Parts: sequence; C-alpha cells; structure tokens
Amino acid sequence: MTFKELNIIPPILKALSKENYTAPTPIQEQSIPAVLAGRDLLGCAQTGTGKTAAFAVPIIQLLNEQKTTPNTGRRIRSLILTPTRELAIQISDNIKAYSQYTDLRCTAIVGGVSQKAQERALNQGADILIATPGRLIDLINQKRIDLQCVKILVLDEADRMLDMGFMPGIRKIVSHLPKTRQSLLFSA
Ligand code: AMP
Repeated sequence: MTFKELNIIPPILKALSKENYTAPTPIQEQSIPAVLAGRDLLGCAQTGTGKTAAFAVPIIQLLNEQKTTPNTGRRIRSLILTPTRELAIQISDNIKAYSQYTDLRCTAIVGGVSQKAQERALNQGADILIATPGRLIDLINQKRIDLQCVKILVLDEADRMLDMGFMPGIRKIVSHLPKTRQSLLFSA
C-alpha cells in the first residue's frame, strides 16, 4: 500500500516523501480512508505507531479541499486536544511538516508559557488548533477564542487525559463546539 493509493493529494504526498515516509503504517492505512470519508473513529494506538499522521494527514486533506471565503477570514476548523505540552508541540511540528505545501496554518495553545504570543498567533488566524485542555479553557473563559467553525475534533491520548482528570474540562470545551462535527478518539 502507498499513500497515493490512499488517494492522498499531491501537496501532501510531496511533504510525506520529504519526511521519508515511504509507506503508510497499519494505523494510517486503516484510519486515513475512514477519516477522508467523514466517519467518526475510535483508534487504539500508542505513540510510535504513526498515530499523528493517521489523523493529521486526512484532516489536512479535508480542510485543504474545503473552500473558505476570503471575507470570513481564517477560522479554526479542526481542534486537536492532547494531554501534555510536549505532545501538543510535537503534533504541531508534524502538522506543519505535512501541510507545508498547502496554505493551511496551525498553532499550538499550551500551558506553562506566556499567553501573549499564543493570543497573537490566534489573532493572525489558524485552521488547525492543537491544545492542552487547561490553557484552552482559560482562553475560552476570557472569550479570546472562537470554536464555532470546528468541523473535526481529535481527542489524542484520551486515556491519559481521563487519568489526568481532564474530563470535566473536555466536556466544557466540547460544549463550545458545533453539534455537527466529525470526532476522532485515540487511546492506548
Ligand atoms: P507517532 O506515533 O505519530 O508519534 O510517530 C512516530 C514516528 O514515526 C515519528 O517520528 C514519525 O515521524 C514517524 N512516522 C510516522 N508515520 C510514518 C511513516 N508512514 N513512515 C515512516 N515514518 C513514519
């Protein structure tokens, strides 16, 4: 199986080839067609299996194909929640690499660092937001973030987020999202 056989579009194929990804991993082979078809997904996968590209590649493709109107500006259309700052930054770096030949923009919102730079990035606009729950809730409470256009939600390492007591926070975040959306949940 190749990424091309999974109907991945040329700008993403070019980025994957630059990353030396020659063939999809098993989780990528299974999840990419399902996500591209707009289905919800429950995936069991640990870090190291290629899980990030399993959700990120089809999300980039779906968002790249959606037409956005220039006068509405760039809106957050996919939200990826993950338990730790390190994971959020790693996912953000991966998405930047996979989407480098598209005009999509992603940004990460994490705790433990100044909020100002993150506010500036949000003001400049992002299509994909990767966040840890705590800082995202702060921004929601301060009404600094609009999640009304989110069409795809990812709960990454959902089991760890539960163990870390993030469930009430995740419920609150989800209550700010549109009811009609695609939801992907990954757990070890
Ligand atoms: P992840 O499970 O998403 O943290 O990915 C683990 C590692 O595998 C990362 O270094 C990825 O860059 C790499 N990787 C992911 N998918 C592929 C692939 N299809 N071919 C080669 N390497 C990959």
